[in-house]
Amino acid sequence: MAIEGEVIRRGDAAYESTWEAMLWNGLKPQRFPDLIVRATSEADVAEAVRLARSQGLRVAVRAHGHSWCGSPLRDGGMLIDLSALNGCRIDADSRTATVQPALSGSEFVSALTPYGLAFPAGHCGSVALSGYLLSGGLGWNAGALGPACASVEAVEVVTADGEVVTCNQDKYPDLFWAARGAGPGFFGVATGFHVRLYELPAAIAATTYTFPLADVEPVTRWANEAAERLPANVEASFTLATASPALAPNSPRPKVISVTGTAFGTSPDDARRALEPLRDCPFADRALDSAVDKPTTFPGLYEASDAFWPAAHRNAVETLWSDTPFTTLLPKLAASISDAPSDKTLILAPFWPASRDRNLSRDMAFSVLGETYLAPFAIWDEPADDAANIRWLRDTMHAVEPYGTGHYIAEADLTADPSRAQRSYTPAVWRRLQALKAAYDPEGVFHTYLKPTTP
Ligand SMILES: Cc1cc2nc3c(=O)[nH]c(=O)nc-3n(C[C@H](O)[C@H](O)[C@H](O)COP(=O)(O)OP(=O)(O)OC[C@H]3O[C@@H](n4cnc5c(N)ncnc54)[C@H](O)[C@@H]3O)c2cc1C
Repeated sequence: MAIEGEVIRRGDAAYESTWEAMLWNGLKPQRFPDLIVRATSEADVAEAVRLARSQGLRVAVRAHGHSWCGSPLRDGGMLIDLSALNGCRIDADSRTATVQPALSGSEFVSALTPYGLAFPAGHCGSVALSGYLLSGGLGWNAGALGPACASVEAVEVVTADGEVVTCNQDKYPDLFWAARGAGPGFFGVATGFHVRLYELPAAIAATTYTFPLADVEPVTRWANEAAERLPANVEASFTLATASPALAPNSPRPKVISVTGTAFGTSPDDARRALEPLRDCPFADRALDSAVDKPTTFPGLYEASDAFWPAAHRNAVETLWSDTPFTTLLPKLAASISDAPSDKTLILAPFWPASRDRNLSRDMAFSVLGETYLAPFAIWDEPADDAANIRWLRDTMHAVEPYGTGHYIAEADLTADPSRAQRSYTPAVWRRLQALKAAYDPEGVFHTYLKPTTP
């Protein structure tokens, strides 16, 4: 059998533009596969893996290219592009769906809405489901629903010998365990996910306050206490950033700290009640901007996220789990955001990104490694500013790493340090992942976690 999809080799006229399109990030690491296979079906993926194995080509995989550090791009070997596999089948009666790897979160949510159903897809609509679900998946309403991979019931996988297997709790349970968290070190190609669906929240509402950064300490103290009283269906976070042009039209625009709570309710009253602990902010009069109980929708949430993480920019991103409270961490990060070379840069600090209920992240490779979580996002435009922005990210991490307990594999900069991948898991999970990689991919057909290149 031959591969049906396009095969583009290094040196072909189409190679450069195809390579360029493999990553969403405008910052493209200069790593070049020998050939790119644009798979058209699961059978095509299996054929490509068999071909790569027979020719000794190491395989990398790409769904939508949302890996911030460019994990799909490796030097040499074969890159299998899954972007044509982007469909879904919804069974409204059983509240389940089968999704292909490159379906985006917003495409999936839009397909579910007419059935009155929902899924905890990622915060930006364009993120593909496969890299997200394989990594764990910290998405909308995770407080109530847990990491998105907790809603995966089975995964179809093309293994290193080119066989297609379905894994779940009963069949290949160890492969299923790995498929829920191994992320960019997964040792197979996931071609389909069987997922559980949820009732569409009848009302979504958000409360946001934005304060001058000088208020970081009282704001963090107040919001930390208020967040303890929020129910699980409220997703709450801090953002440290530059004031938007709407708030501060003249430059230099001041730095700000925002507190946001987004409630996923069964009715408008239910959503409002859920946000109650954020209503009585004792210094609301000092806010530069505020919106209380503002109704929104999933498309509205995606639009707001896209404004923070616009396409066609250069990005360098990190993550940190910690057991240190935000009241200690955020004042340190206030100094970092003040020094950011780009006004687009921000630091996100969500409360319980994977739910307070640890039962929702049991029996999976995805590891919750701390009580608090941070993600600094360096976002800029010009190639000439690469070094300054990447240095800012590294310096920011140095400031908080002494408080760190680990990283989140989906958004860690695996090129920053060789220990990033290992530190994204508990020691026991990491040992099991290594043993399973050796068992399922003994010849090393698939690339493993990206590492820094030797200077
Ligand atoms: C704008 C933006 C917003 C984001 N928001 C969130 C968020 O809210 N929550 C969150 O948890 N993460 C978020 N992420 C991170 C995102 O989940 C990961 O980058 C994820 O890997 C993206 O999925 P992808 O399929 O596009 O990955 P790709 O970049 O295509 O692939 C990344 C790696 O994943 C592996 N992989 C992907 N698909 C497969 C497959 N089918 N089979 C085997 N291996 C595969 C490969 O090793 C590949 O190298 C965001 C990223 C971006 C750029």
